Amino acid sequence: MNCFDCATSDLATPAVAVCSGCGAAMCAEHATASPRSVQRPNGLGQSPMSRSARQIHCPTCADSLVG
Ligand SMILES: [Zn+2]
Ligand SMILES: [Zn+2]
Repeated sequence: MNCFDCATSDLATPAVAVCSGCGAAMCAEHATASPRSVQRPNGLGQSPMSRSARQIHCPTCADSLVG
């Protein structure tokens, strides 16, 4: 699969991620990885997840998330 945004510019760049918003495939240049902090209630013991979650977004969806 190739990057969707690159394909609109007649480029065939292999995709490395899929946007979690619209499902479009993105190359490394167009993909935006944003950390998604998982809020857990206190008192349930230690969380097994040591790393914060991650979301990959295309430029369009990343813009729509602002504000
Ligand atoms: Zn691209
Ligand atoms: Zn998207």
